[in-house]
Amino acid sequence: MNRFWSKRIQDVVPYTPGEQPKDRQLIKLNTNECPYPPSPKAIEAIKAAAGDTLRLYPDPECVELRAAIAKREGLDINQVFCGNGSDEILAFAFQAFFDPEREVVFPRITYSFYPVYTDFFGLKRREVPMNPDFSDPIDLLCGQNGGVVLANPNAPTGIAVGLEVVEKLLKANPDVVVIVDEAYVDFGAESAAKLINRYPNLLVVQTTSKSRALAGLRVGWAMGDAGLIDGLRCVRDSINSYTVDRLAQAGAAAAIQDEDYFQSVRVKVMKTRKWVESALKEKGFTVLPSQANFLFVRCPGHAGKELLDGLRERGVLVRWWDKPDIKDWLRISIGTDEEMTVLIAGLKELM
Ligand SMILES: *Cc1c(COP(=O)(O)O)cnc(C)c1O
Repeated sequence: MNRFWSKRIQDVVPYTPGEQPKDRQLIKLNTNECPYPPSPKAIEAIKAAAGDTLRLYPDPECVELRAAIAKREGLDINQVFCGNGSDEILAFAFQAFFDPEREVVFPRITYSFYPVYTDFFGLKRREVPMNPDFSDPIDLLCGQNGGVVLANPNAPTGIAVGLEVVEKLLKANPDVVVIVDEAYVDFGAESAAKLINRYPNLLVVQTTSKSRALAGLRVGWAMGDAGLIDGLRCVRDSINSYTVDRLAQAGAAAAIQDEDYFQSVRVKVMKTRKWVESALKEKGFTVLPSQANFLFVRCPGHAGKELLDGLRERGVLVRWWDKPDIKDWLRISIGTDEEMTVLIAGLKELM
């Protein structure tokens, strides 16, 4: 803190991103990045875009990228909005659709950026308790509220709900916006994008950071009714019209068009997840059923922090939160088969 800080930021507790170590030797299973490289076509497109035209501002409307997304999802281009990572899209959406008088509701255990946004934007929130098995407390998200945010699959639990559940949520909350954050949808869940034409209160948010191996490029998008998309545009153009740069637009569009490469990556990740889940259960771990590129696990008799530190000493980074509900749990990203073999060996030593 500093005496020149505005009152608004004096009490803010910002989001803490997962560690990005400079030490290349560490096996990084802490931020759910993809262990495989991006599509070669995306790299080519980025190289091709790295030329003279960088002196010009990028297309603020990201037309080419939005057209690629709209085509893949069977939507109109006016139902798609692009931003600098889905974190930016979420930040815009909280400002565009939620008012200070009414509580925004979301599960207590979910993406830790949501409470940061409500605080920072001066919104009220209600964090509803999870079901005992850590699944999403859907009924509690259906009462009176000023908006709903649901990560599907949820993070850090990895648990997904079916589209009939998302639909129930949309029907129960017809007068507020329901944001469905689908950062991990490609690893086994079903996208709510196909409900967009029937629910004007639905905003689906996706990203190239996980399943398209482009966390470093910073591209996310929202899909929803054209009226909602206009709301996001209104917020963006009140802050910074050019949030997605030329390289990012070119690379993301090429990655989205390379469907074969995308499919091969997500299938590999899901295969690895399957054997790692079995191997951990065999060793006595509790593993939540994950439809994401990570597992949320606990080992009875061992504190989460103890396993976190022990793994780090063995060169493996995983994610842990110092929160009472989940302090004995670790979130482990799915890496390559080789990386996961090192993880399992490390855990075996620690038990
Ligand atoms: C990773 C993640 C995001 C952010 O993704 P970016 O597009 O990289 O900003 C959003 N929501 C959830 C739940 C995530 O885990």
